[in-house]
Amino acid sequence: MRLDSRQFSELIKLSFTAVKSDTLGCDGCYEMMDQFAQANLDRVELSDAMRLVRTHIEQCKCCRDEYQSLLTALREVA
Ligand SMILES: [Zn+2]
Repeated sequence: MRLDSRQFSELIKLSFTAVKSDTLGCDGCYEMMDQFAQANLDRVELSDAMRLVRTHIEQCKCCRDEYQSLLTALREVA
């Protein structure tokens, strides 16, 4: 399937929207990641800030990998 230029610009617009909804960025995500992991392990309700972390982790492979190893480490300690 080939995209014509109109479809292509729609696609670009969509990907910008996706990036925009992720307001946290990797630095912000990283700062709150341990809190987020702990909240998940404790199964407490997520605050708005923690939801932002979750949104970022879902969209960012780099932070997702980081989060998985953090979670593994925390489980080993527990
Ligand atoms: Zn990230």
